[in-house]
Amino acid sequence: MSIEKNLEEIKNNIKNACIKSGRNDFPKLIAVSKTKPYTSVLEAAESGQYDFGENYIQEAMEKIDTINRKDITWHFIGGLQSNKAKFAVKYFDLIHSVDSIKLAKEINRRAKDIDKIQDILIQINTGKEEQKSGIMPEDAEKIFEELINLKNIRILGLMAIPPFGMEEDEAEKHFSLLQNTLQNLNSKFENLEMTELSMGMSDDFHIAIKFGATMVRVGTKIFGERNYK
Ligand SMILES: *Cc1c(COP(=O)(O)O)cnc(C)c1O
Repeated sequence: MSIEKNLEEIKNNIKNACIKSGRNDFPKLIAVSKTKPYTSVLEAAESGQYDFGENYIQEAMEKIDTINRKDITWHFIGGLQSNKAKFAVKYFDLIHSVDSIKLAKEINRRAKDIDKIQDILIQINTGKEEQKSGIMPEDAEKIFEELINLKNIRILGLMAIPPFGMEEDEAEKHFSLLQNTLQNLNSKFENLEMTELSMGMSDDFHIAIKFGATMVRVGTKIFGERNYK
């Protein structure tokens, strides 16, 4: 299968999932290009795909510099250490994986340095797994009280990476929890108007769409198995 064919199929599946759940707004498809060469990104762009997700700062910077196109929107979706925040702010339009106050503050500081308002999402640990990153849902309100004071970040919504290999009903609980958390936060904080729910990957985006996903992050089903890592 070619990238073009894969994209076509995914978009069809997204459309069908939307119709099935009575939605007439389509989520944005983010093509996750981690471990793939820049040529694969260009191939996807040829087919009209302009949103890409990357996980590793070093790899991403090289790819973004090589491609050097203004019509592509770059999403950072990987784990981000505070000492790399500077690069994420310089290179990425949207950072999905902000999982602590410390990181948010560092992004805010680095954005201020270059006179940017950085769009971000807050990652929520819907599985409440110790080893996974993300803010625990029950801590979100307290954490947002601090986050809303940071002037050089704009919080567009929430993101989650549920545990792998779940049954459908299990996955639904995670997506529904993220959707509810967004609604709760929006109602608690007057000035917060979050609209984005980044959830759903190759195997479960059709489920995430039922629960209001506005961004789905699909890698394997577009580019094939990953090359390394
Ligand atoms: C790699 C990755 C994806 C894409 O996963 P696939 O199963 O290949 O679609 C999506 N989101 C995040 C956060 C990832 O790290």
